[in-house]
Amino acid sequence: MKIGIVGCGNVGSAAAYACLLQGVGTELVLVDQNEELARAQAEDISHATPFSKMMSVQSGNYDLLHGSGIVIISAGVSQKTGESRLDLLKRNADVFEKIIPVVLKNAPEAILLIATNPVDIMTHMADNIASKHGHTKGRVIGTGTILDTARFRTLLSQHLGISSHSIHAYVLGEHGDSEVLDWSGVRIGNILLEDFSMQMKLRLDKDDISRIDNAVRYAGKRIQDGKGATWFGIASGAARIAKAIINDEQSVLTCCAPLNKVESIENVTLSLPHLISAKGIEASIYPDLGKEESEKLQESAQLIKVAITSIGY
Ligand code: NAD
Repeated sequence: MKIGIVGCGNVGSAAAYACLLQGVGTELVLVDQNEELARAQAEDISHATPFSKMMSVQSGNYDLLHGSGIVIISAGVSQKTGESRLDLLKRNADVFEKIIPVVLKNAPEAILLIATNPVDIMTHMADNIASKHGHTKGRVIGTGTILDTARFRTLLSQHLGISSHSIHAYVLGEHGDSEVLDWSGVRIGNILLEDFSMQMKLRLDKDDISRIDNAVRYAGKRIQDGKGATWFGIASGAARIAKAIINDEQSVLTCCAPLNKVESIENVTLSLPHLISAKGIEASIYPDLGKEESEKLQESAQLIKVAITSIGY
């Protein structure tokens, strides 16, 4: 499958590289308003093909997206140090009003995979624009909290000394400060986290929980302080979603999509576990949350709803 990538800065180029290394797709097409940057990224990434899967890696204009099954959108302005994701909204909304219709004109069959921040709102907006172009439901997916979920599993893995692959833990809601770490739903294998810690005589007290929760929630800010932006984690997450689509996996991944109702908030886009197949989003899964987590999810949904409404969507 041909994968298009629009916006080839840190995130877009790393997503292309992650797809290449993971063998996701058969052809990569890089598009950016900075044509010279897209050309250079494509050339650089193509030099990794002798060490990975053989793949064509090209750059060009939007017409090169023709025939893409997936288009990853990572165009936009990145978050400045101290700037919240919601502050980015207006600047990136202008970018989306321009590029989404052009992408759909050139690749009408493609599933759009949105990474641009604030990703929940950009996904809501892209879905809205796409549906006016006849795009069917479930074919606009935001990376949402796939990254936050990976961070949650990584930090639990480091604390417990257990492979992250055996940890079932999910982050729901906004990809941002109001996100909800579903602590009561965490399982190690098929055992509740608390029971597992007791059985294995591992310490996991309130302070540990609070430290991990904060470290997940504010990971992006910490990384930005050191290197200005984040890209490897999200790029791997985007490649993971693309792989689930290409292989028709029916995998459960936390990503964001427009939802009819979350808690009491209607028509809002945020992350829940979603079933991902060749069709895009097959189904949204509503976890059985505790009272505190339900309230936090309601707050997160409300915050996103206000932002969506503020740009008229
Ligand atoms: P970047 O500045 O390195 O790259 C953005 C690219 O978009 C640039 O190359 C720019 O030329 C291009 N661009 C801007 N307007 C365009 C247009 N109209 N048409 C085509 N290309 C255009 O930024 P980055 O670090 O790669 O971040 C990109 C986006 O991804 C940001 O919104 C950032 O906040 C977001 N991001 C999301 C996550 C996540 O978890 N979803 C994580 C990290 C970054």
